[in-house]
Amino acid sequence: MLVSLNEVITKAYREKYAVGQFNINGLSWIHGILIAAQKESSPVIVAASDRMVDFLGGFEIITSMVKKLITEYHITIPVVLHLDHGTTVTRCKQAVDAGFSSVMYDGSKLPIAENIRRTKEVTDYAHARGVNVEAEVGTVGGNEDGIIGNIHYASLEECVDLVQATHIDALAAALGSVHGNYQGEPTLGFQEMAAIQQAVAIPLVLHGTSGIPTAKIDRAITLGHAKINVNTESNKAWLEATRQALAANLSTHEPQIILESGREAITQTVQSKIREFGSVGKAWPTLNF
Ligand SMILES: [Zn+2]
Repeated sequence: MLVSLNEVITKAYREKYAVGQFNINGLSWIHGILIAAQKESSPVIVAASDRMVDFLGGFEIITSMVKKLITEYHITIPVVLHLDHGTTVTRCKQAVDAGFSSVMYDGSKLPIAENIRRTKEVTDYAHARGVNVEAEVGTVGGNEDGIIGNIHYASLEECVDLVQATHIDALAAALGSVHGNYQGEPTLGFQEMAAIQQAVAIPLVLHGTSGIPTAKIDRAITLGHAKINVNTESNKAWLEATRQALAANLSTHEPQIILESGREAITQTVQSKIREFGSVGKAWPTLNF
């Protein structure tokens, strides 16, 4: 059985550690993430980004794959299945209907009133079905050569308005982090973070974390971040391992030889992130099968 987002992040928020969200880009990622979290005895959030859902076969296939692998591998840790950056209300509802236990609606590029209106529609629908919701205010930077200009800090007032009007379960308040590769070190707005945390008093979510040093991750956790998203770092590890396997096995036509090293690299990356976020040993036994 999948667990809801609140079941894992409420405890993390209270005890000042974070649960990693690890994005999937294929079967190797689901395998690698589940195995890593089981090894570290950590709760885990398995996520599909909306832009990847169709590529992966659709919402129903994703839910089935995750649930079946949990059974097949005797995974006993709590697993959340989350939609990352849901683009529309309809897509979020489809994920809920397909069995996702958590969804993010990303209306951060809309005017705040419209973001609130649509987030509330998602929250009303999801909460009635026992599913939790994350929403975003402000803009996480993109991966366009680390251009800092497209980072837009979340405003305190907008965060408070959104949380109070929608009753979301977790808030992604963009404060200087960047998706994908970044030139140099992102500057996180810790003062703003502290003010937002104090005002909203719900778990925060950190997006765009690759390149952020551990000390800053720790500080973000202290300031209320209970969910931290990881995608780029797993993908880079997978790519490097796959390239090496290809170069070392020029004569093979066995996909398994190539794919296994990529999967192992994902597992190792996820394990190291789980340790960094402090969620080792925080799992409790669940009746998954
Ligand atoms: Zn993100």
